Amino acid sequence: MRIVHVIERSVPISRYAEPALESGGLTTSIVALRTDVVRDGKPVIGYGFSSIGRFAQSGLIRERFAPRLLAADDEQLADDAGTNLDPFRAWHVMLHGEKPGGHGERCVAIGTLDMAIWDAAAKIAALPLHRFIVTLVPTARHNDRVAVYAAGGYVYPYDDARRLEDELRAFLELGYMRAKIKIGTLPLNQDVLRIESARRVLGSGERLAVDAMNAYGARDGLEAAARLAPYRLWWFEDVCDPLDFETQSRVTRAYDGPVAAGEAIFSAAEARLLDLHGGLRRDRDILLFDPVHCYGLPGYMQIREIFERSGWPRSAFWPHGGHLFSLHIAAAFGLGGAEVNPFAFAPFGGLADGAVVSEGFVAPPEAPGVGFEAKSELGRLMQTLDA
Ligand code: MG
Repeated sequence: MRIVHVIERSVPISRYAEPALESGGLTTSIVALRTDVVRDGKPVIGYGFSSIGRFAQSGLIRERFAPRLLAADDEQLADDAGTNLDPFRAWHVMLHGEKPGGHGERCVAIGTLDMAIWDAAAKIAALPLHRFIVTLVPTARHNDRVAVYAAGGYVYPYDDARRLEDELRAFLELGYMRAKIKIGTLPLNQDVLRIESARRVLGSGERLAVDAMNAYGARDGLEAAARLAPYRLWWFEDVCDPLDFETQSRVTRAYDGPVAAGEAIFSAAEARLLDLHGGLRRDRDILLFDPVHCYGLPGYMQIREIFERSGWPRSAFWPHGGHLFSLHIAAAFGLGGAEVNPFAFAPFGGLADGAVVSEGFVAPPEAPGVGFEAKSELGRLMQTLDA
């Protein structure tokens, strides 16, 4: 059981349905990881990608973590039966020699390869990832259908008001009941107008979450909290710098509705600090930890276990990402739900081809692995890696 080849490439991505619109030069790493296992006459290849909304991790993957996987022997990578990759053993191979702290972006590089390892292992087991996880993890609690919401609502560089309404209407037509839009880049008065317009389309503030993308400090965070409160929104996300627990806790105290945090927390150690000092409330707030951001699924599981031990319900977890990997994880662990990016970050965001969202719920794909091959545009991109 060996990993015989890993290929990584950085590709541009866009927040907008029209990729030509300026999107801050965002990139992501795509990886293909070839195993020595052959199925139907072909080697099993696992695919993965980095965060969508940040940047590629080429150097860390190519120079540090892929070589460790390639140098590992059978016992280090295989399960007890020797018939499949053990993603947890592979994870320890990648982390060998790494010191505590300094999470930086190495956690995203490992998370990228981890996605490809899970994809390959589930393909070897001939199971969709959500069912494969259940065979491996005793704390899994499988759900056939996952609550989902549509994320998007970035500020368009022109004709923003009409485009925002069109995008939200398209979400509803696709079967989503709830949506999330961005705030924090425009003056607050303009954000409030966008919220009013989104609320009109969705029919209720309780169907609308807003994401400030970590833009606020204490003063403008408190000001936004006061202005948002009357709208009784579904949640208020990413208020301030992810490690500014003082501002997070002040704003949380001042805001009665649910707040959501954790998407840009990159390790279990930081997550514990958020729980201790962020003022988050177990009875209403939302935990957005992103499996790829925090060292892949094994790192995400550590965080989930820490929070569950400290009294958080599983329903508080809504993993960030907006893609199939997070959807499988939400299904396997019976989490609150998952984000979906129906139009943003194509071809990485969104669901498998033909997936139907019904009244805000969707089933994850049943194709083996993550289901890249069931999402044709993404599958085609991955196959260009020629692993
Ligand atoms: Mg966010």
